[in-house]
Amino acid sequence: MDLVTVIVIAAAVGVFALVAFWQHGLERERDAEAEAKLKEKLKEVKELGADKAVAQHSHVHQDKCIGCGSCVIACHEGDVLSVVSGLARVVHASHCIGCAKCEAACPVCAIEVGLGDVSHRPDIPILSPELETSVPGLYIAGELGGIALVKNAIEQGKRAMDDIARRLKAQPRPKVTGVHDVLVVGVGPAGLSALFRAVELGLDYASVSLDDVGGTVFKYPRRKLTLVQAAQMPLVGKIKEGEYYKEDLLKMWGDVVCKHGITVQINAAVEMVTPADGLLETKTNTGVIKSRFVVLALGRRGSPRKLGVPGETAQHVLYELADAAALQGQRALVVGGGNSAVEAALGLAAQPGNYVVLSHRKNEFSRLTGINKQRLEKAVAEGRLHLLLSSQVKMIDSKKVVLHSCDPGGGKELPHLESDWVFVCAGGDPPFPLLHKIGVKFGKAPETSEEERAAGGPAGEKP
Ligand SMILES: Cc1cc2nc3c(=O)[nH]c(=O)nc-3n(C[C@H](O)[C@H](O)[C@H](O)COP(=O)(O)OP(=O)(O)OC[C@H]3O[C@@H](n4cnc5c(N)ncnc54)[C@H](O)[C@@H]3O)c2cc1C
Ligand code: SF4
Ligand code: SF4
Repeated sequence: MDLVTVIVIAAAVGVFALVAFWQHGLERERDAEAEAKLKEKLKEVKELGADKAVAQHSHVHQDKCIGCGSCVIACHEGDVLSVVSGLARVVHASHCIGCAKCEAACPVCAIEVGLGDVSHRPDIPILSPELETSVPGLYIAGELGGIALVKNAIEQGKRAMDDIARRLKAQPRPKVTGVHDVLVVGVGPAGLSALFRAVELGLDYASVSLDDVGGTVFKYPRRKLTLVQAAQMPLVGKIKEGEYYKEDLLKMWGDVVCKHGITVQINAAVEMVTPADGLLETKTNTGVIKSRFVVLALGRRGSPRKLGVPGETAQHVLYELADAAALQGQRALVVGGGNSAVEAALGLAAQPGNYVVLSHRKNEFSRLTGINKQRLEKAVAEGRLHLLLSSQVKMIDSKKVVLHSCDPGGGKELPHLESDWVFVCAGGDPPFPLLHKIGVKFGKAPETSEEERAAGGPAGEKP
């Protein structure tokens, strides 16, 4: 090889090395920039209180993640996940609806959807994998256990009943009049699924519920579109993934109830469940029901949260919107910052002649699903919906509402709002007191011993 060739090859290698070095530097710079942006975003999300999910959510096992981004593409909720420096991260946990599409899309099983570690969560009852509580024979299915969505409620109702059937078979007892195999409480999707499975398996059941068949679905506004993931429901069969009007879901379930002659005692509120002589005695407002097992499928809505302001018991103050189309040419104030409030406000804003204001205590909506966020922004941009952020209702009278701003330095009174209707959609108080009274154990904050308190906190958390 002559000298010129050697020089040319050496120069080419040198240039190649320089380009590679320069590219590597650029990549590192880009990664550092993305990391810094992510940190900024996480800080912002934390300040908004949107970094933690209440129900099930995605969790990335970073040791397994190969950074392919399939989970980000699969997620329809916008900004829940992001791939930074070659690894998927959960950014907006509270925007996660727990649909598990990311989990299905991950080629290496690096993303998991669940409640995470619930041992320290005082709002999640401790359940066995078969959904039995700490009270033997008492099961919890559906959203009451912390897992939201119709599909999950259906799966859990069936899972609980399958376990009960297994135990009934394994420990047969002579039939006693007035003692049922199982009592199902609540007929939302979880209770219905449990009930349908009990019928399918030929169990002797009783069923009670406060509301009509459908539970929370029954209470949705008229013609609300419900996004349901594919599910297999006892007696119903396969429910295809798709958007269903609430009326279609109610018809599907109602037809099964009629066809199989299933009996549900409506307007019956459970007040207590007590273990007695190897049975469970359930006290309702109408009597006592004895059974070997009980499935509580009470959901989490509980009783609607009140504002605690004068005038909120007036007849024009409502706690749910049943039929937006019934209100046209009206002025309405919707109070709340969650999906229910936004869906109610959007429903009202879609009616001709309505003037709709949405009041929210915070200066941003941090817990909305992606689709509700988009619809809200569109309605506001088109002038169909008016936002009063950082505002708080102080008083309601027959025609006007007094609101204050939520400024850190003490709220100022805002111009009075004239309103024919006020919808308070501030969530509900879940039926936890009932569960505590029954003796169901929840996750709890770590206990701090006298010694640890003296040392400044629980072990491992000392400064
Ligand atoms: C506005 C809104 C929109 C939603 N949109 C969707 C969606 O698009 N897709 C989706 O998958 N999920 C959606 N969800 C969530 C879904 O509705 C719930 O996850 C699901 O209904 C939970 O089912 P469940 O059977 O556990 O409880 P619920 O449906 O809440 O049923 C609870 C049942 O228990 C009864 N009950 C309560 N307390 C008592 C008592 N003390 N005694 C007797 N009975 C009692 C009630 O009457 C009711 O029958 C939405 C929820 C809301 C609020
Ligand atoms: S919303 Fe669904 S797809 Fe998106 S992160 Fe949560 S579970 Fe995954
Ligand atoms: S799909 Fe799985 S491997 Fe790919 S980025 Fe998401 S978590 Fe990582």
